[in-house]
Formats: sequence, C-alpha cells, structure tokens
Amino acid sequence: MTTISANLQAVRARLEAAIRQAGRQPGEVGLLAVSKAKPAAAVREAAACGQRAFGENYLQEALEKIEALADLDLEWHFIGPLQSNKTRRVAESFAWVHSVDRLKVAERLSEQRPEGLPPLNVCLQVNISGEETKSGVHPYRLSALAAEVARLPRLRLRGVMAIPEPLDEIDRQRAVCRRVRACYDGLCRAGYALDTLSLGMTHDLEAAVAEGATLVRIGTAIFGERNPL
Ligand SMILES: *Cc1c(COP(=O)(O)O)cnc(C)c1O
Repeated sequence: MTTISANLQAVRARLEAAIRQAGRQPGEVGLLAVSKAKPAAAVREAAACGQRAFGENYLQEALEKIEALADLDLEWHFIGPLQSNKTRRVAESFAWVHSVDRLKVAERLSEQRPEGLPPLNVCLQVNISGEETKSGVHPYRLSALAAEVARLPRLRLRGVMAIPEPLDEIDRQRAVCRRVRACYDGLCRAGYALDTLSLGMTHDLEAAVAEGATLVRIGTAIFGERNPL
C-alpha cells in the first residue's frame, strides 16, 4: 500500500470517527483532498483509491494537473485567493469555487462560465479571524454579498467557506467554527437554499465536524507536508 492510500484510509477513518462523535450521520460530511503543491501523480494515486474531489489554490499549477488528469473523472474545486483577472480559466476549468469574497469576481465568473457547462458552484469565503488574512468577506457584509451573488445566472450559491486562524485547543477551534456556522445559519434563515459549510483542515477537522461542517478540506494528512513554494 502506498503512503497516499494509507493516509487516505486514515483520514477517512478519522472523519468517520469525528462524525460519530458529533452524533451526525455517515455521509453527511464530504472530503475534499487538497492537492496544492503536490504533483499530478499524487492526485492520480488518491483517485485510484476512490477520491474524486480535489482542491487547488494556485491557478497555473492547477491547470497543468487538470490537463494531465483529464482521463479521470475528477471534480476540481478552486479554494485559493482569486484575482479578477484570473477568473476566466477558473470559470472554464473548475466545478466549484470556495473563495468568492467580492461581487466583481463573482460577476466575472458568472459571465465567463461556458454555456455548455452546468452553473459554477460557489461558496462565499468569510473572514472569520479578523485582520490576519486579507481574504474573505467580513461577516457583516456577508448577507449583502449573498443577495448579489444569488442573482448571478451562471453561478449556484452553495454555502460558506472559512479558514480559521490555527489554534491548538479544540475548544477554541470549536468556538471559531461555531461563528462560521452562525454565518451559514443566518443565510439559511434568510431563505437561501444552501447545503455546503466548507470548514475544517488537517489540524481542526474534528472541531469543524462537531460544529456542522459538510465538507472538510484536507491536504497535509493525505499528501504529507508541503515544501514552501
Ligand atoms: C492548504 C489548504 C487546505 C488544506 O490544509 P491542510 O492543513 O494541509 O489540511 C485547506 N483549505 C485551504 C483554503 C487551503 O489553502
């Protein structure tokens, strides 16, 4: 068994344990394998073990992998910061974008989504930990952005994504995840038909699942440590 297949099995077991611990149902939480900074061969190995959804942060690198793996039926999620001059290739090549945080980017993605493809699934990225990151819409701006994005014809608003600051203790992780969940619940109460809370990485998977994540984004625990780019 290769390292990646062993890691993937361990992550699936960890996810199942977290789901059980949280009193949730098996299958309620999907696994996005984050393959940034890893070669196409690594993705191919994970795909051979049944993993279908992959997350990428850097457009050029992602496009090379998407092309190299076009013989596989994979679902690509763009999860990195997205500048408005890079939207076209994202709209053409990905099934999902998790990092929509401003209207201009959303409008371009909608305009540029090719006719022959289904609408692009999007999550709105919320800046939940304050000033440390520049990415993400502030929670108080979220509902206004949702209203604008929901009107765009070639996008399908699916939910909310966040990258909480790294914290060691699970109680503190859970407190931040709970705030993301509150943002998500607020949009659901406002009438948006959402189904995706994209939350949880290698270090806080359990906290995210406990607080209601429906899609965890796991890189290191599957593919190993990344070399700094
Ligand atoms: C890199 C990355 C991940 C995966 O992080 P790990 O700690 O390696 O599991 C998840 N989400 C986003 C947005 C990332 O950039």
